[in-house]
Amino acid sequence: MTTIKNIAVLTSGGDSPGMNAAIRAVVRTGIFNGLNVYGVRHGYHGLINDHITEMKSHHVSNIIQRGGTILKTARSMEFKTEAGMEAAWQNLKKHDINALFVIGGDGSFRGAMALSSKYPISCIGLPGTIDNDIWGTDETIGFDTAMNTVIDAVDKIRDTASSHNRMFLIEVMGRDAGFIAMNCGIAGGAEAVLIPEIKNDHLTLFKTLEEGHAHKKSSNIILVSEGDQAGGAFKFAEKYKDKLKNYDVRISILGHIQRGGSPSAFDRFLASRLGVAAVEAALDGQTNVMAGYKNSKVVLVPLEKAVKTRKKMDKELLHVLDVLNT
Ligand code: ADP
Repeated sequence: MTTIKNIAVLTSGGDSPGMNAAIRAVVRTGIFNGLNVYGVRHGYHGLINDHITEMKSHHVSNIIQRGGTILKTARSMEFKTEAGMEAAWQNLKKHDINALFVIGGDGSFRGAMALSSKYPISCIGLPGTIDNDIWGTDETIGFDTAMNTVIDAVDKIRDTASSHNRMFLIEVMGRDAGFIAMNCGIAGGAEAVLIPEIKNDHLTLFKTLEEGHAHKKSSNIILVSEGDQAGGAFKFAEKYKDKLKNYDVRISILGHIQRGGSPSAFDRFLASRLGVAAVEAALDGQTNVMAGYKNSKVVLVPLEKAVKTRKKMDKELLHVLDVLNT
């Protein structure tokens, strides 16, 4: 087992609020344990191009509350090639880096696994994505903040929707996973959600809407996951325009505001705990694991399992939504 002396941290793929809190936690835990810590700017692209600099404690001062990522993030096609990965490895070797901490989503974890399967380096993942679609952790870093952003928007849209008796289709992020739509649907009092995991039962949906119409419901809010699987808001409105003709339908696409903003208290707390656990896991000789959060406890999950297993939507959530819509 290699003794860990030098470690590096990067953020990769889609950004999420709380990534800075995770960087801070990795850097400070490394320093606390007597390690030299390096920051890699621009994700795997930065590994290939040696955007690697040493980080001291003061480099992560005053960032816990900041959205985005001070290390920047990127997507790198080159890292998927043999030559790209070799170049990344040569830079890691040059700085004598023994462990790499990857804050990102499942794509970034695949990259970490590919690297550590080929070269002698420990790779530890921290789940950073607003989509919450990583198996092995109840929450990902950024999900809570994104939910708060969506709820804030839903509340505001509800005010105008009920003033005009309108129906709003609010499109939220989550191309392959409907966790944002579902949780915010419940928390925002939405009439329905359209998500990729559940084959949307449009007949029931239109029946619910008609009942609401009969009771002179003043507004209808439907949260729709982006992308082709759930259909997206514009496509849904177009496809069902006949069924929706009794309603004054408006569409609101929330877009990238969901990725931004100061991280919530929970995301800072989560990122801090996972950062400490990740570095301690590497010191303990672990590799190819993700630091996750299950039942309020930090857990270590094999990266392979985190990447290959699809996180299931809890069917009880749909029940909650239905019950509260009566
Ligand atoms: P996310 O981490 O948000 O899911 P991506 O899917 O875009 O984001 O992945 C981020 C980066 O991880 C990619 O741009 C690529 O550099 C790297 N990556 C993804 N899959 C692989 C793979 N199979 N092999 C090597 N690198 C990969």
